Amino acid sequence: MGARQLYNQDGHQFILLEGFGHGEMVPTNQAVIANGGECMLLDPGGHKVHYDLMNEVSSLVSLHDLKYLFFSHQDPDIVAAANAWLMLTDAVGYISELWLRFIPHFGVDELLIPRLKGIPDAGMRLPLGSSEVVLLPAHFLHSAGNFQVYDPVSKTLFSGDLGASIAPGYVEVTDFDAHVPTMEGFHHRYMPSATANRLWANMVRGLDIERIVPQHGAIFPDRAMSMRFIDWVEGLPGAAEFMTELYRVPA
Ligand code: FE
Repeated sequence: MGARQLYNQDGHQFILLEGFGHGEMVPTNQAVIANGGECMLLDPGGHKVHYDLMNEVSSLVSLHDLKYLFFSHQDPDIVAAANAWLMLTDAVGYISELWLRFIPHFGVDELLIPRLKGIPDAGMRLPLGSSEVVLLPAHFLHSAGNFQVYDPVSKTLFSGDLGASIAPGYVEVTDFDAHVPTMEGFHHRYMPSATANRLWANMVRGLDIERIVPQHGAIFPDRAMSMRFIDWVEGLPGAAEFMTELYRVPA
């Protein structure tokens, strides 16, 4: 568990906060993008990691500089601590407009609700210091309203649950083939659509990518490994296609 600076040049930083979570929790990766005194925190995690993460983030950047909270989708390991983050910072939270009215069920104070904003299905760009970040559509990977973040300065793609690996035992992928078994189970069950997998691969091939950072497990640390991953996703079957046997009334 700790912070790794993956990029730091000309006042622009991409910081990985890796392996948060303990006990029964799925360990999560968070990330901070900082430029010119403005920051974005990506997928800030649930209640149990909030305190540790808050300490870690505030040791790296001033919490006053936190301009955006990005929520890739509505899962508890991403949004459960939304209220605390909104209360303790002045940041504005962005999540798919599909989930905007579900987040208040986690207990977001009424006064803070106006600081939660919906991302339209087509995605958007947000200014950050002298740069900008791109919120890329990644619907059905795995959530119905799902986004990823591309940072064009560090050339980093934050891919959310896509690329998640379970207990790989390392932070950076060095052997793609050996890494595949740590991703397979999750992707074969959670990623519902082969069409979405293919559309995503096609979209991100148009980006200049130096690394891909998923929300769980190891990262793809360079261009070559990122391309291997994109190729793998392109050929990934959709989980819904394997449900024929399961759609039966239990005996
Ligand atoms: Fe999820």
